[in-house]
Amino acid sequence: MTTDIRLETELRYVKGVGPAFAARLEKLGLKTVRDLLWHFPSRYEDFSNISNIAELIPGEAATIQGVIQDIKILRSFRRKMFIIQATVTDATGSIRATWFNQKFLMAMLKKGMVINLAGKVSAGKNGVGFAHPSYEIVGFSEDEEQFAEDMAEYREEIESCKHTGRLVPIYPETKGVTSKGLRFLIKPLLDGLEYIPETLPAEMLKRADVTELNDALRLIHYPETMKDVLRARRRFAFEDIFYLQLVNILERSRLAKENAYACVAEESRFAELLAQLPFELTDAQQEVMREVIGDLARPHPMNRLLQGDVGSGKTIVAVLSAIIAAEAGMQASFMAPTEILATQHYHTFKKIFGNFEKGVVLLTASGAKVFFGDGLESNMKKADAIKKLATGEIKIAIGTHALIQKGVAFNELALVVIDEQHRFGVKQRQALAGHTKGSGELLPHFLSMSATPIPRTLSLTLFGDLDVSIIGELPKGRKEIIAKIVPPASRTDAYAFIRGQVKKGRQVFVICPRIEKTEDDETKGKSWFAVDTKTVKEEYDKLSKKIFPDMRVAMLHGKLKAEEKAEVMEKMKKGTIDVLVATSVIEVGVDIPNATIMMIEGADRFGLAQLYQFKGRVGRGEHQSFCLLFTDSSAQPTKDRLEALVHAKNGFELAEKDLALRGPGEFMGQSQTGLPDLAMRSLQDMKLVKSAREAAESVLKKDPDLTEHPQLKGVVARFHDKVHLE
Ligand code: ADP
Ligand code: MG
Repeated sequence: MTTDIRLETELRYVKGVGPAFAARLEKLGLKTVRDLLWHFPSRYEDFSNISNIAELIPGEAATIQGVIQDIKILRSFRRKMFIIQATVTDATGSIRATWFNQKFLMAMLKKGMVINLAGKVSAGKNGVGFAHPSYEIVGFSEDEEQFAEDMAEYREEIESCKHTGRLVPIYPETKGVTSKGLRFLIKPLLDGLEYIPETLPAEMLKRADVTELNDALRLIHYPETMKDVLRARRRFAFEDIFYLQLVNILERSRLAKENAYACVAEESRFAELLAQLPFELTDAQQEVMREVIGDLARPHPMNRLLQGDVGSGKTIVAVLSAIIAAEAGMQASFMAPTEILATQHYHTFKKIFGNFEKGVVLLTASGAKVFFGDGLESNMKKADAIKKLATGEIKIAIGTHALIQKGVAFNELALVVIDEQHRFGVKQRQALAGHTKGSGELLPHFLSMSATPIPRTLSLTLFGDLDVSIIGELPKGRKEIIAKIVPPASRTDAYAFIRGQVKKGRQVFVICPRIEKTEDDETKGKSWFAVDTKTVKEEYDKLSKKIFPDMRVAMLHGKLKAEEKAEVMEKMKKGTIDVLVATSVIEVGVDIPNATIMMIEGADRFGLAQLYQFKGRVGRGEHQSFCLLFTDSSAQPTKDRLEALVHAKNGFELAEKDLALRGPGEFMGQSQTGLPDLAMRSLQDMKLVKSAREAAESVLKKDPDLTEHPQLKGVVARFHDKVHLE
């Protein structure tokens, strides 16, 4: 125990926290007083309306104060539940409060006590009531002596209003750590800490118009009004975004000082490469190639994010860049999130540049394949392939996570490409960067590609350390995909339509949310998920046996062996499968230009970005394509989401919509950014982001290495680790 509380004090030394409670707090990631004070409420109960019992309005939340006239415990035998019932009166009337399964209340609440009750008022046969109200012991009625002993026990509770009569903070909880428990801890700590030292320069706070830390901390836990909450949240969001900007700008200038191989592409050689393509690059692709070629030719590492709508042709940019690196005598590695995709990229490479002589390997969990310019590929032992990468005999590696496995090292790696970078966590991206250090002091150039367009506002903030290229158009001649929400009643028509397309020689994807029902579903019986979630296995049975017995139906899901998956994809490519029933394994990147129908079962179970990716699996060839969205849900948010998909002109527009519907946190996902929730939620506040950016720029302008801001330097180091390593 210690009385001298500091932010660094470990919680187990704080009064009222025993070892067991400390362990539970640690489960929430709370070790020190600082952690606890930075454990912000996720929401607030508004119990600020203090009312007479007679004036309570059913359906509204309020706080009353009264004397316990009567308290008893009842037992519901059927459900083995304890029910505590208390009758509380004030000068205007009486109210009944009920709690379930809180036997300990009998020892705590006694007849004659004055308590506050807060909660939503319910209307019953016997007048108004409170079900499971928040309570707080405030004192005792006249008969004080009788309770003198108990009172000592409850002194702490009596001392301050924490759970009623105000905006009451509700915290993220865990087993054994309730919001009430957290309030008991946090309130006295806040009251006990005199002044919590500011972390940001005063002048910056003033300029950005953000609240001082000391005030913000008190306001976020115990606000008077919701306005206070917003003010406090803004402060913390500003701070985190400011750090992120600092980290980004520092990272950018750090990279600018690092060295990389300059891979220069001769103009004439590049023209030769282009002549081998089965198509002409779009203007947007050409523009991006110019940017990338320029970057590669410089002796400092490129750090570029390539965004382009689904089907806009990002792969070829990666392939051409890899060839440029290889022909400069260096190596390139091209990583994709799934084996299917890596294999596809490898085949694309082989199809277009089968005469490339410097060695291309496909490296995945299931093995290695190589070709050396003769157009012939051969299987190779993984260990041998890895050796040839280490010696530099093979110049280009295409693969999955297998590329960042221990033991894989390159001889002279000049370029790293990551496809569908949003599918990789921050950690994996970092692992890749670390793993693929070029030889000696040289860092590889880095190109990450994403088909989930990130609205500009977000990408500037989150990827401020990257240069962003955009392929903003699709190859010519693509027809717009017709998307439709199909009501359950039109299912038969949809099947007839599919049959028609297959007759014309086209192919069809059917996506289901899950592979199969689990035992869990059986025991849960009619749980919401079990009843109506379509599974790949069931749909495959139904379609292959009943609906399309005359067609070639196949299935694809994550539980198949890698070779089985590859075989299915191979057949799909060759056109010997008509209907492919699959899970979201085909979500990203898969390219089958002859497929014209994407039918999605349980469309409401997927996020907008994911649905958009599904949709992008069709419309990749010359034929008119369709995306059919099946849903049984009539909930408004689902409708909004699906409607947005149907109407969106392109990925960027949809991304803006998605962002608006879900907010940045959900939109990006935590693992992507490492930013705390609060800051994530504020990323749409352009004014705030802008002032954080300006603040970071102005600090670094005067003090580029933060030597004069040791505190900031420390925080940035911590923040950097968080964003880049978690
Ligand atoms: P994504 O950007 O979604 O990764 P891909 O690179 O898979 O898109 O390209 C989608 C399809 O478009 C592929 O079949 C590819 O061969 C084709 N493609 C790419 N660029 C062009 C182009 N300039 N003209 C015509 N077709 C192209
Ligand atoms: Mg792609």
